[in-house]
Amino acid sequence: MVASGTDLLPRVRKRLVAPTLLLDISSFREDLRYIRQTDGAIRIGALTTITDLLDSPLFEGKLSIVRDAAELFGAPQIRNVGTVGGNICSASSSEDLIPVLMVLDAKLKLISAGGERTVPLQDFVVGKRQTALKPSEILAEVTVVPPSGHSWTAFEKLGRRNMLIIALVSEALSLTMEDDLQTIRSARVALNRVAGKVPALASRTSGFLAGRKATEETIAEAQRVLASELALTGDYRASATYRTEVAQVYLKKLIHRSLRKIEEAN
Ligand SMILES: Cc1cc2nc3c(=O)[nH]c(=O)nc-3n(C[C@H](O)[C@H](O)[C@H](O)COP(=O)(O)OP(=O)(O)OC[C@H]3O[C@@H](n4cnc5c(N)ncnc54)[C@H](O)[C@@H]3O)c2cc1C
Repeated sequence: MVASGTDLLPRVRKRLVAPTLLLDISSFREDLRYIRQTDGAIRIGALTTITDLLDSPLFEGKLSIVRDAAELFGAPQIRNVGTVGGNICSASSSEDLIPVLMVLDAKLKLISAGGERTVPLQDFVVGKRQTALKPSEILAEVTVVPPSGHSWTAFEKLGRRNMLIIALVSEALSLTMEDDLQTIRSARVALNRVAGKVPALASRTSGFLAGRKATEETIAEAQRVLASELALTGDYRASATYRTEVAQVYLKKLIHRSLRKIEEAN
């Protein structure tokens, strides 16, 4: 299957994959390219491009994390054709929307001739470039709901330059505080790679933060939990140690930024 081909076609050219048959779904654009708001949820068609995300007024406030990731995405040529569905279905550590949509607890609508089913994104990515898609299915729609209560979401990405960045680390956080604004009600931390090259929720770190006071001690301990949870591999772009240290620094930055935004809103 190919949407706008920005992930798949370079891999075909490099002979990393050799599909015998390619189904081009870009002709379904009229049906699967939209961003709609219904009952407080935002529904994004799988063929929505990254530029469409940037052009939408819906990714503001608690959902501005989507815009933040889209702004750092590739270059205009890639953003104009690369799709949300293609990003998710690539299921690789270079795909920035995956951690962002994971902290938003995105739900995916998968359709086939036999019907449809809904799968949480965190269960959809099952390994490096492996998804829960059945051969007969395509991803049709992604749904996100802005987090309620005293909450904020934030994103950080590190690459080796300012444009066309393949992320060394991309990390997202959704943080919700109790009414006292001191205690963390819930947290979701996700990275472009948690074990090996698999994008995932850092569930131990997320669980550790829940219910604790948002103090510097808690943050320092959460950084240690994150380092113990990550099982990264190094490559020619960066070592595993460097990536882990960046992930820890980003965790602190993301928590501080979210706390500041939550405080400003009160
Ligand atoms: C120069 C360059 C820079 C890039 N920069 C970034 C970046 O900064 N951040 C980032 O996250 N990515 C980046 N990418 C990767 C890529 O552009 C994105 O992942 C893009 O969103 C992929 O979308 P696509 O429509 O082109 O996917 P395609 O290449 O068409 O498809 C990718 C995979 O998903 C499958 N697929 C696509 N759509 C569906 C669907 N609806 N249902 C089921 N399966 C589907 C295909 O079969 C294929 O396996 C970059 C790529 C290039 C070449």
